[in-house]
Amino acid sequence: MIQSHVLLGSLFYSRNFEQEQEDAPEVRCSRDRSRAAWKVIDQYLTPFVEKENYQLSKKCRLLPENDMFRDQEEHKIYLDRNEWRCGYCKKSFREEKFIDQHFDKRHYNLLDLTHGKCLADLCGALHCDAAMNSKSSRSKCNPEAAARNRHLCESLADSCFPISEGPSASRLHELFLHQFCEAHSCSGKHKPFSRGGKDQGSFFRLAVGALVLVLLPVFYLFLYLIQSDMKGRTQELRRISKSGWKAKSA
Ligand SMILES: [Zn+2]
Repeated sequence: MIQSHVLLGSLFYSRNFEQEQEDAPEVRCSRDRSRAAWKVIDQYLTPFVEKENYQLSKKCRLLPENDMFRDQEEHKIYLDRNEWRCGYCKKSFREEKFIDQHFDKRHYNLLDLTHGKCLADLCGALHCDAAMNSKSSRSKCNPEAAARNRHLCESLADSCFPISEGPSASRLHELFLHQFCEAHSCSGKHKPFSRGGKDQGSFFRLAVGALVLVLLPVFYLFLYLIQSDMKGRTQELRRISKSGWKAKSA
């Protein structure tokens, strides 16, 4: 699994990019898959780590510093559907893939190529394919690959959240196993991201907000109707009592 990602990464980078290839080094790490891994961490792990106010150790490969593309990705300015700007040199691009190529050609010197900084290598453990909705969920489960991914996943849990570091680390360790590692089996019993993430939370808040927005005018209309109905009735009552009184006195 890891090997295939490295291969994918090198394929991605050995493709010739237009004329100015220059002396850019071959990067054996896929930017796309690293980005996917980053999104998974951001959505399904970071909210829990923030809630526990937990500091990841330098040894943890999920740290932003351990993603060689992080700095470049953070210098990607999204202006519009058809406009991306390079935060280093302010050049504009029509599509994200062009700004990616620009980074590869012009700013490759900013990549930290030290060993262990390829986030895409963790994609197997982090279920990048499931998160990217690619076909892999339909493909046949390979027990050996599942075992390998589970092992990688558990080693991440151990290095990022060592149980010996206290209750927060223990809780996050357990969460990490449920969220990512349990689903690495061919039984199909466990789904990845079972504990939810950022998206679902915001979706839920959005749904509640929309419901309140819809129900509030209905509620006021209801109040108004009741009030005007009461007013009408009291007026009617007054009229009846007045005419009754008139009839009596007559
Ligand atoms: Zn640039």
